[in-house]
Amino acid sequence: MSAAPRTVLITGTSSGIGLAAAIAAARAGWRTVATLRDTTRADVLRKAAEEADVELDIRQLDVTDEASVTAAVDGVIADYGRLDAVVNNAGAGHVGTLENDSVAEIRKVMEVNFFGVLSVSKAALPHLRATGGRLITVTSVGGVIGQPFNEAYCAAKFAVEGYMESLAPVARTLGVSVTVVEPGAVATEFVNNVGIDLEAEIDAGPYTGTLRRYIDHAVGQFLDGSAQTPAGAAEAVMEALTTDLPAFRIQTTDWARTFVATKLADVDGSAVQDLTGAWVA
Ligand code: NAP
Repeated sequence: MSAAPRTVLITGTSSGIGLAAAIAAARAGWRTVATLRDTTRADVLRKAAEEADVELDIRQLDVTDEASVTAAVDGVIADYGRLDAVVNNAGAGHVGTLENDSVAEIRKVMEVNFFGVLSVSKAALPHLRATGGRLITVTSVGGVIGQPFNEAYCAAKFAVEGYMESLAPVARTLGVSVTVVEPGAVATEFVNNVGIDLEAEIDAGPYTGTLRRYIDHAVGQFLDGSAQTPAGAAEAVMEALTTDLPAFRIQTTDWARTFVATKLADVDGSAVQDLTGAWVA
């Protein structure tokens, strides 16, 4: 009798990195539970699976809804009896700054990008312990380097990185590996979902000029062709999923590795301030 295939659950697979990771995992022979918060929007995912000639098990999971998280994880265990890996991919950007964001908006960014990750991870961990599995989270270079007008988003991604870095040695004693995957710019729907019309004339009061300069810088990263493809970013997710003893921190490009390295060697914070200050000066 052949062994049951290893099972991975991925969040946020309606588009972008999550969709590409679902296809890559299924291609690599994983039983892939591809989850979305709104399964009526699964057409693009289904078409991609058809084109790649792979099978996906598409299920509902909203990371901000604990009942939905529990139902999805329990359903996988009921149907397959095992869970070998989770990829916390769902997330959403947010462009704003302290004076112009309400606290409610900032909380919402934390709900999706931080508490959502914890909620899925908490539900999955007992099952990952049972399989000696992997807990993988797509964070961002913004989980290491704070970036202008990304205060709330970076705070949420920093929080995820801090949580996972702290959890990793504990989880390792029980056979579970914990990894964060850090993309730089990736050409996905992400940039269209940051809560602001990047092409519009923006009135941000005293921040209007600096915000415009930031947007020109950020949009430039997506338009100058240097943004990575979702499939490219998904390769790093597959590295976390498949290599023996994956590193805790995996960047998805050389650019991301160099950028993150600046911060990790920047003991007094001045190198990062010089770098990111130039984006808005
Ligand atoms: P994307 O195409 O916008 O995909 C984000 C995914 O997250 C979508 O499937 C979205 O679903 C899902 N999502 C949002 N809120 C959710 C919720 N409450 N419950 C479940 N799913 C939810 O962007 P992406 O670039 O692939 O983003 C994937 C991850 O990469 C995110 O964690 C993001 O922070 C990170 N990242 C992206 C970039 C970049 O430049 N693109 C850079 C660094 C890190 P809906 O379609 O329903 O909204």
